[in-house]
Amino acid sequence: MSTKNLILGSGLSVLGFLEKNKLNNFEVFDKNDYFGGHAYSHNINGYFFDEGAHISHSKNNQFLEIVLKNNDINFNQFKSLIFNFKNSKQLGYPIQLNLKDLAISEKTKIFMEALFHNKKNINKNYYEWLVSNYGEYLTENYYKIYTKKYWRCDPEEMDVNWVSGRLAKRNISKTLYSLFLKSDNNNLSYNKFRYPVKGGFFGLFHNLYKNKSINLNSKITKINLKKKTVLINNNLEKPFDNLISSIPLVDYQTLIPELDDDIKFNLSEFKYTSLISYNFKIKKKITINFQWCYFYDRDIDVSRMSIINNFNQEKNEDDFYIVQMEVFRRNDEKINYDEIDKNTKNHLINFFKITHNDIYFEKRFFVEKAYPIPLIGVEDKRLKILDYLKKNKIFQIGLYGKWKYMWSDQSFLDGYNFEYEN
Ligand SMILES: Cc1cc2nc3c(=O)[nH]c(=O)nc-3n(C[C@H](O)[C@H](O)[C@H](O)COP(=O)(O)OP(=O)(O)OC[C@H]3O[C@@H](n4cnc5c(N)ncnc54)[C@H](O)[C@@H]3O)c2cc1C
Repeated sequence: MSTKNLILGSGLSVLGFLEKNKLNNFEVFDKNDYFGGHAYSHNINGYFFDEGAHISHSKNNQFLEIVLKNNDINFNQFKSLIFNFKNSKQLGYPIQLNLKDLAISEKTKIFMEALFHNKKNINKNYYEWLVSNYGEYLTENYYKIYTKKYWRCDPEEMDVNWVSGRLAKRNISKTLYSLFLKSDNNNLSYNKFRYPVKGGFFGLFHNLYKNKSINLNSKITKINLKKKTVLINNNLEKPFDNLISSIPLVDYQTLIPELDDDIKFNLSEFKYTSLISYNFKIKKKITINFQWCYFYDRDIDVSRMSIINNFNQEKNEDDFYIVQMEVFRRNDEKINYDEIDKNTKNHLINFFKITHNDIYFEKRFFVEKAYPIPLIGVEDKRLKILDYLKKNKIFQIGLYGKWKYMWSDQSFLDGYNFEYEN
């Protein structure tokens, strides 16, 4: 009998796997009633909203070749126009390369810090990384506040292994230059990006799913390591030789009852953020040219806001904005929806200078797992757990499967380049 492989999930990592492995000795299962996982775009009243801001800024040739060429995808390319806001003041992005927008008293402090920079580069945690790269003033007054809003923890609690490719390193000449002149931002990892003309971010991948056979509404509810079976929707048992799984690592706490206690305990210490996504169509009363922005104020719940019709098909056609606001909470926090709803709506109204009557529609949705939080101590445990699963023929792929932040191209390629390790 041929080997029986079960593939769990249908997000981009599994799409990558299926694109490469055009065999017929496997079956694919996803708990959702749609395929695409976190890369899916939700149609709300005819407008597409992603699960948090999603753009493709990939520079990876393998990904670009497979996904974007020959797939008949209609997308636009944009030069990124991004801003920060603090105390209602618009500031350049990233802040450390746009110091000219700050008050003179702030600039003086940053300038003095840069002059007397302590060259010691001890980066035991993210806080130390921030201070050694951007200085204490920017760390305390900007990055630390934002970290608490977005990652829902103190930067001192976080590792630095996720920073590369996401945050620009210290560049003293550019920093000093930006005290006086506008920075060109050309060195940012997402200084340019692609976005489909139609269908939201998922429009980049939709065509690739067309010839794939995926069983939807099929939730894996238990895995039995001894019998080597999975239980689907609590009633259908399927044997497996190998599982290629993008199921979030933390979910194995409950999926595998026979899991060692210490693994269960380690998994219970892994934390993640959840996204509360607020989606609006509002009347255009002021003109906004940027695509997305970040809010550094402690009292504003929203971390990030995208003006979606500034980069999709609706641009300039009408007198409205399609807006998404993102609020994050940690999985061990209690979510007070009444407070967050109120805070977010007030912010929307103040920011866009509108009234309640200018909101054409609003829809909130919840993304239970947004980002695995790279807390100190997780890395070693994560690797041990992946190793344990591998020994039991469970091969983890993708962002949540590997419990490590990956951009969409990295998730796709993680599945595409997957090789069994026996
Ligand atoms: C808020 C946010 C913003 C992002 N922005 C960007 C961006 O701008 N650019 C970019 O390139 N990338 C971005 N990403 C990253 C990108 O979304 C991911 O890399 C990619 O979608 C992950 O794909 P995946 O296959 O690893 O995981 P997933 O998409 O999560 O796939 C896992 C699948 O497993 C299924 N599943 C889970 N449990 C079970 C079960 N028990 N039984 C059956 N099925 C199950 C789920 O339904 C899901 O379909 C962002 C991510 C987030 C969270």
